Amino acid sequence: MTMYDPYQNMLHVLDEAASVLKLHKDEYAFVRYPERELTVSLPIRMDDGHVQVFEGYRVQHSSVRGPAKGGVRYHPNTDINETRALAGWMTIKCAVANIPYGGAKGGIRVDPQCLSDRELERLTREYTYRISPIIGTDIDVPAPDVGTNAQIMAWIVDEYSKLRGKYTPGVVTGKPIEIGGSLGRNEATGRGIMYTLMSYLETTGKKPCDITMAAQGFGNVGSVGCLLMKRAGINIVAIGDIGRSLYNPNGIDIEKAYAYANSHGRSLDGYQEEGMQVIPKGDVLHLDVDVLFMAAMENQLNAATMEGVKAKLILEGANGPTTNEADTYFYKHGIEILPDVMTNAGGVVGSYYEWVQNRTGFYWTEEEYNKKLQANMRKTFQTVWQVKEKYHVSARLSCYIIALSRIVAAQNYRGFLG
Ligand code: NAD
Repeated sequence: MTMYDPYQNMLHVLDEAASVLKLHKDEYAFVRYPERELTVSLPIRMDDGHVQVFEGYRVQHSSVRGPAKGGVRYHPNTDINETRALAGWMTIKCAVANIPYGGAKGGIRVDPQCLSDRELERLTREYTYRISPIIGTDIDVPAPDVGTNAQIMAWIVDEYSKLRGKYTPGVVTGKPIEIGGSLGRNEATGRGIMYTLMSYLETTGKKPCDITMAAQGFGNVGSVGCLLMKRAGINIVAIGDIGRSLYNPNGIDIEKAYAYANSHGRSLDGYQEEGMQVIPKGDVLHLDVDVLFMAAMENQLNAATMEGVKAKLILEGANGPTTNEADTYFYKHGIEILPDVMTNAGGVVGSYYEWVQNRTGFYWTEEEYNKKLQANMRKTFQTVWQVKEKYHVSARLSCYIIALSRIVAAQNYRGFLG
């Protein structure tokens, strides 16, 4: 088993895409390197009076097609390498979805569950202060990711606005509606995943009511994704989060599970319904279902877990849930993957719509927002499928081919110095 390095995973597919496009390495070498990486130390006075120093990161992978764009993750395992990979995937994702952004990602190595609200606010403000020289509405625009939410985005807006001496809501997306957030943004990632799956089923002539699904991860992406796919007719028989995995062969009552998780700190702990069993955590990946919905973290489908997968389709809601090794294995075994950089792009497309509204000061209805999101997701899927069929490649490689050709074309117009 090879050492898991998510950035190397990204480069591997990028090189494959370059080879399909017959690009010389000089023509795309710039995409292999992040443009800018910042590591910051964040000394915070904790509630008990002692000072704890946290480490934070912001990686701007690319700004060739527009401002860098990407979420901020608060997680105990976050480090510069993970942040770099997530930033690279954002570059690919924004180019595939054809929105005018590059890619970035940020994070703090912290378990936010272990901090009080006041500590979390102080940490977020300090992080904003430290990265403020390199972010901005036209430069680099953060958003929520694992462990962060609309409240944290609000603190970033407030701190950044104070530093700049003017209210600047466009510096982040995923904000509360009250301070310039957009109707629809909260559900955008899950909604986009549902639209992508519907496009796939339409293309392959399948009906939602014939499809069974198991889902790993029941946070922002997983819970909303499950709710909307269930409403679209999919029978979701298993869900799981970090604490519990649940299986009901007759189908989970997702409306009930969603409401439960929302009122219990986004956790399924203690959730019960008739006919449902608690199963060992890893079993969610290996159930006999049509679709496996990955909505937790990276590196879940790997050499140790891939062989037990029975699903014929993997829907990547999370970023990087499949290692290269597992990716190759699934391709060889005819298991289709709807890859992260296409499938979960609803989040950043929705962020783009929020940013456009902030810049124009003209706010849309939720219907307008969802309609535009659906049009983008559908078009992206169709383009990815055409390129996939043209080159006889996986959907993931198709995404990288599309992204790389757009990024290289943009850089060629902008030109190289020296
Ligand atoms: P979240 O923190 O809201 O939810 C994560 C979920 O995964 C939780 O239910 C958690 O318990 C579960 N989980 C974590 N580790 C697990 C494990 N080892 N086994 C089983 N379950 C586990 O995060 P989120 O915002 O839903 O993000 C999930 C993924 O989607 C991440 O990869 C993120 O980068 C990606 N993503 C998020 C967005 C967004 O808008 N939030 C957009 C695009 C992609």
